[in-house]
Amino acid sequence: MSKGNLFVISGASGVGKSTVLSKVMAARPDLQFSVSATTRSPRPGEVHGVNYYFVTHEAFEQMIAEDAFVEYDRHMANYYGTPTRQLEEKLVSGSVILDIEPVGAGNVRAKRPDATLIFIAPPSMEELERRLRGRGDTPEDQIQLRLDRAKWEMDQTGWYDHIVINDQVESCADRILSIIAQKCDAE
Ligand code: 5GP
Repeated sequence: MSKGNLFVISGASGVGKSTVLSKVMAARPDLQFSVSATTRSPRPGEVHGVNYYFVTHEAFEQMIAEDAFVEYDRHMANYYGTPTRQLEEKLVSGSVILDIEPVGAGNVRAKRPDATLIFIAPPSMEELERRLRGRGDTPEDQIQLRLDRAKWEMDQTGWYDHIVINDQVESCADRILSIIAQKCDAE
């Protein structure tokens, strides 16, 4: 029997989701982060089993064949998926947060109608473009790809319960924390 609540957070590349999410996780140590499996390569500093389970294409496809994912999707030429067993184990001890893109969020919504889905949106597309360029580490063709993907993601928000605008990191994190508190602390 699961005891915890399930929260899903999505947001386009460059929107500041990781920074917001780390503030939320720091403020709510009771929340557990669901570690996804992915076929993409680790970035500097990422740790297997902490940020992701980094697996081969073959291993990922084997897991699909074994129906081992609550949801999965191909994103930017790589697979990403939420392993069912780990998620269920975590939900037994408390609430869990998933950081997944909108296709996966829609699939979670279908399987877990009780989940709370939160979409982090930029104040505007112009601001998102400014943030992406400001990072200084993204080539022009990648910026265009990410902006196109962000526009598409903004149109996929129909199944989210909350759209929170990241105009300022602290207030965005605070709004997400109050959504979480409403659900977790009311019980
Ligand atoms: P990144 O490669 O930057 O870590 O993540 C790329 C995108 O994949 C992000 O939008 C992230 O939310 C999404 N993602 C991470 N894990 C999963 C997952 O398990 N399932 C799905 N559907 N998306 C995921």
